[in-house]
Amino acid sequence: MIEIKDLTKKYGHHTAVDHVSFKIRNGHIYGLLGPNGAGKSTTMNIIAGCLSPTEGTVLINGYDVCDHPLEAKRQIGYLPEQPPLFMDMTPFEYLCFVAEAKGVKDDVIDRQVKEAMEMTDILDVKDRLIRNLSKGYRQRVGIAQTVLGNPDIIILDEPTVGLDPKQLTEIRALIRKLGEKLTVIVSSHILSEISELCDHVIILSGGHVVADDDMASLEARVSPEKTIRMTVKGDGTGIREILAGINGVLEVEEGSSGMEGCVALTVRTVSGEDLRDTIFFAMAEARYAVISMDMVEQSLESIFLSLTGSSEAARKEERD
Ligand code: ADP
Ligand code: MG
Repeated sequence: MIEIKDLTKKYGHHTAVDHVSFKIRNGHIYGLLGPNGAGKSTTMNIIAGCLSPTEGTVLINGYDVCDHPLEAKRQIGYLPEQPPLFMDMTPFEYLCFVAEAKGVKDDVIDRQVKEAMEMTDILDVKDRLIRNLSKGYRQRVGIAQTVLGNPDIIILDEPTVGLDPKQLTEIRALIRKLGEKLTVIVSSHILSEISELCDHVIILSGGHVVADDDMASLEARVSPEKTIRMTVKGDGTGIREILAGINGVLEVEEGSSGMEGCVALTVRTVSGEDLRDTIFFAMAEARYAVISMDMVEQSLESIFLSLTGSSEAARKEERD
């Protein structure tokens, strides 16, 4: 288990990670999700013991990364954003080298390297130079390296960036397979990837945690209410009055439609009901012509955008 408390990292005057706290329990796949610059790599580097925090603590299976770095690091396998591969080595040579560096005992190095290669399906390229491997295979070698030394937890920083669709599918399948045995933390700026892979998601934005939830609850938060977007011919005040009087309408917002004599409206309604018919006939009765009407389902993407967007806005306000 990993316990992160009030973790802060400053680069000069810039605070990249700002009092971040969360817990990682064993046996799940966790997603660290956030736009570029959110602080994902910084957080992962600190957990992996590659970067020291400015403030705060990280406990890994009870070991503090600052006070007991060796024991803490032993619990973790880490694949940084830029995989530390040596291009002039073969996967087999490279993995033996990493195993040795991690202090794996000589008599078990061969077996562990073989198991890592089996697990990541790279046995057929084990004697080729890494420089001649495709990006997908290189990424497998990078992942193979994380499991050497039998850590409980592996941390993968944006492991699917730059892969083609086929490689992407394969690497995701590999991550899922690893997640059956190990605790996996994977970062990404792609929501669909995290929702596909992870049981639990921590959303970072501007160095802050803006959500920390299991995937199912996050998905349940989607569409708690519905939104209808419409363009109606007529005066905004009269139209809004009618809408506000309809049962189930929560909020009406008026905008510009860009069309002469028309208004654009965003109507928030209670969940579970489709009020389009009611709205249409109410408008017709009052002789307002409905030009267009669409139901917008709130997607996971919009939750993500509203969570990360508002935090960016809050930070901007703070700066201004
Ligand atoms: P992410 O991985 O989510 O894209 P990072 O952790 O890499 O985010 O970066 C968080 C913020 O810290 C960014 O604004 C980035 O520019 C800044 N940053 C990252 N590394 C350094 C560094 N070594 N020196 C100065 N600023 C940095
Ligand atoms: Mg990063």
